[in-house]
Amino acid sequence: MTDFFRLLDSSAQPPEGYVTDVAQAKRFLERYVGDSGFRRELESDPESTLAGAGLLETISLSDLPVFLDARTREGTIAAFFQGQDLGAVGTPDCVTRFCAYTAEKLRLREKIRKDAIPSDSQLAAWRERQVNRCSMLFGAGRSSALVHSPLAIELTKGCTVGCWFCGLAAPAYSGVFLHDDSNAVLWRECLEVLRAKLGLASAQGVLYWATEPFDNPDYELFMEDFWSVMGRWPQTTTAAATRDIERTRRFLDDARRHDSEVDRFSILSVGQLRKVHDSFSAESLLSVECLTQNRESGIPKARAGRAATVAGSRRNLVVDEECVSASSIACVSGFLLNMVDKTVKMISPCASDENWPLGYWVVDEQSFVGASSLDSALSRMIEEHSKPELPSNGELKLRSDVHVASVESSDVLVISNSTTRMEIACRGFTSRDLADVFSSGSHTLRTLPAVFGDDSQLLAMVGTLRRMYRQGLLDEDPVRAA
Ligand code: SF4
Repeated sequence: MTDFFRLLDSSAQPPEGYVTDVAQAKRFLERYVGDSGFRRELESDPESTLAGAGLLETISLSDLPVFLDARTREGTIAAFFQGQDLGAVGTPDCVTRFCAYTAEKLRLREKIRKDAIPSDSQLAAWRERQVNRCSMLFGAGRSSALVHSPLAIELTKGCTVGCWFCGLAAPAYSGVFLHDDSNAVLWRECLEVLRAKLGLASAQGVLYWATEPFDNPDYELFMEDFWSVMGRWPQTTTAAATRDIERTRRFLDDARRHDSEVDRFSILSVGQLRKVHDSFSAESLLSVECLTQNRESGIPKARAGRAATVAGSRRNLVVDEECVSASSIACVSGFLLNMVDKTVKMISPCASDENWPLGYWVVDEQSFVGASSLDSALSRMIEEHSKPELPSNGELKLRSDVHVASVESSDVLVISNSTTRMEIACRGFTSRDLADVFSSGSHTLRTLPAVFGDDSQLLAMVGTLRRMYRQGLLDEDPVRAA
């Protein structure tokens, strides 16, 4: 049996060469995906291209075919999940080790999703409904990547980078929250409030949203405070890794010292990819995912925010309208704070549309002046919007993406959307009764007794509607609910 080592665990002691295998395999794929010149050169002169990129030590020419076949990589990851002996598959060590590392990161994502469940039971039930809603809305692939983090905090107003594809349509940079004496006190007090409200889940928060972390010169100081209050070094995604190489080097050292798990560099050009690879060794970027967002990577952008507004003129660079799974990049079901204008919003992902062009609902929003008003705002939002049970005065409608597909059988109502078909068991009432409740569009729990004179019918119907509410099938869109 081939031995694999957990590389995200700082206490692991893999044998010599193991980390280099994984790091160089990762680097090869980043270069291959993001650099069309590298791809061309690899085709015409593979040996000197690999040697020029410093990769020939790990990747031999005979490895290339298996390396470049995505199906082989996916098959290897699946085999690893099933506990198969990957050595027996005959795949090169660097590929199997890289796949084992990928599988480890996928398991970490699952863990983060579980650790992100807030301690407040009302808020946890609300989040669970949003998780259920999003998994049917976006489909299995996209929703498996959604961790529904409970918290994101912006430390600047806007962003200096201005990517044409920004899925959150970050406005131009206009202000910063510096770590001066009074802000440092306020910051720690706010973190304490968030920690008390969300419990251990608060540690899964991040300190950016529609912002570039390195736009704030004190970002690392805020990270240190977050770490000391929450007990976790938050994940960072930056598009400015090459802006100040020495700062990035210190940032990577800090991340290692604090047992950071995975960070991300957004790569905006081939030149930036090459500069990242030239400035940092493959091993030092092992836990940094280089997301090749540059044009040459050919990876289409999610249709949300600014990308959605320019989709017509950049047709092959943005996903098609039908692709609901790529209509949002939001990953928070919880609270979004901005420390510059002192606002807190309660948000959750949704498909980008005319009401929600940024791909997330804003369920509520309030300003705060200090930690105690933040505390009151959070309590009010949780109380008003996280009803654990179906509200008695809310209109009983299916979500706008879900429709009744069939009422042919009287004891099963079939509903579906673009990703999922689901059967709702109807006991004590007929599927037609349930379909009629939804098609009327004006029923609430309060009006149902007038429709169902028979108490047992009414109770059965209410029980089913409550289950559907918990499954996130009923419409909670804040605009339509308003
Ligand atoms: S994608 Fe990130 S770096 Fe680019 S404009 Fe948006 S927030 Fe700024």
